[in-house]
Amino acid sequence: MKYAFDPGHHASVAIHGSDERFPVHRIYCVGRNYADHAREMGGNPEREPPFFFDKPADAVVGNGEQVPYPPRTQNLHHEIELVVAIGREGRNIPIEDANAYIFGYAVGNDLTRRDLQFAARDVGRPWDTAKGFDHSAPTTAIHRIEETGVLERGEIWLTVNDVKRQTSNLDQMIWSVPEIIVELSQLYTLKPGDLIFTGTPSGVGPLKPGDEVRGGVELLDTLSFQVVET
Ligand code: MN
Repeated sequence: MKYAFDPGHHASVAIHGSDERFPVHRIYCVGRNYADHAREMGGNPEREPPFFFDKPADAVVGNGEQVPYPPRTQNLHHEIELVVAIGREGRNIPIEDANAYIFGYAVGNDLTRRDLQFAARDVGRPWDTAKGFDHSAPTTAIHRIEETGVLERGEIWLTVNDVKRQTSNLDQMIWSVPEIIVELSQLYTLKPGDLIFTGTPSGVGPLKPGDEVRGGVELLDTLSFQVVET
């Protein structure tokens, strides 16, 4: 087998305490998975359940790398999220087996061109340009589940230039991680290498060039990046 041109490198994420890397297959994201964030986006978490969208695998950015301010937006937003890394193939996964599909956990930022998202939402169009742009998925190293145990609660937080913007707890998710795995596995065949961004709590807000962004989830690495002018 011979490619017509060099296919380039495979998107991947570091694995904590290892020189091996986690090859990224797909990036799935959950929308409105914390009630307070659903409300700040103008939704009603009692009436509308969370939902899925995705980002391209090569949107991942390593921890500590710079993030260029993306084009065609005046309103780039941060969204700190727990990221679940999938280690086994499966579909129609029963809830009692869901945790067995988890390779590990990381911290991610679901960067969003909020102005494009609202413009698309208002006319019922897809979110791809708002969510799936280049460098839109900064992600820490993955901690293996053998090391952390199953994460069901723990602080999740984000600061911009050392000012706290987002803070909540993983136990505030509307769909728990096992429920997300069940739902996704009914829509897609989950594969080793899939990353799932599990949603952000309230406090999302704008970033500008020069901002230093940090965020974390208890037991995992702190995700840091600087937004830079393109
Ligand atoms: Mn998000």
